[in-house]
Amino acid sequence: MEARANTDRHRQRQQKLKEQVDTRVAAATEQKGVLIVFTGNGKGKSTAAFGTATRAVGHGKTVGVAQFIKGQWDNGEYNTLQPLGVEFHIMGTGFTWETQDREADIQAAEAVWQEGRRMLADPRYDLVVLDELTYMLAYHYLDTLDVIAAIVNRPEQQSVIVTGRGCHTQLLELADTVSEVRPVKHAFDSGIQAQAGIDW
Ligand code: ATP
Ligand code: MG
Repeated sequence: MEARANTDRHRQRQQKLKEQVDTRVAAATEQKGVLIVFTGNGKGKSTAAFGTATRAVGHGKTVGVAQFIKGQWDNGEYNTLQPLGVEFHIMGTGFTWETQDREADIQAAEAVWQEGRRMLADPRYDLVVLDELTYMLAYHYLDTLDVIAAIVNRPEQQSVIVTGRGCHTQLLELADTVSEVRPVKHAFDSGIQAQAGIDW
């Protein structure tokens, strides 16, 4: 008897939940591109961005990437997505954590940003990923207003993903979706080396 009552209660609860979800789904009628920010100090921001890029490619969408950190070309996301037609612009020189030369960094950031801005003005791109952009604003390597204007004025159906720690407040306010990755643990802190396929 009690099991039966539990089953009924469960069914009623699920029915109510379904009604609530259906109402919210019906209320979401707008169709437009979104600005997503993946921020916070935990691991998973860039992988979330490239996971979304992979999803977009899987639907035949056009994706462009600007990576605002000195990159090794041998990174897994590049190796996978570039042959599938995703365009990458990665800093050849410039910004790393050990950087000492501010002028060279600014030049390198500007060069990648030119490509980012061009993609943000082009309706052929369905998704533009601006990986590690937040540092360029925090270090004043790029003009915040210029970056925000390019994002605001992008084609209506185009989506943008920004990643990096300490995201600028104005970008957070502007964003449609913001996820903050919180570090609970990281392997590096217990002496495990960064590794291909996990960390890059
Ligand atoms: P990922 O690219 O793995 O998604 P991320 O984009 O969230 O990481 P970044 O701050 O861009 O993080 O750092 C890039 C590199 O630093 C990655 O190799 C990642 O594993 C490592 N990393 C990220 N968070 C931490 C942390 N809290 N402690 C140590 N290393 C970290
Ligand atoms: Mg990252």
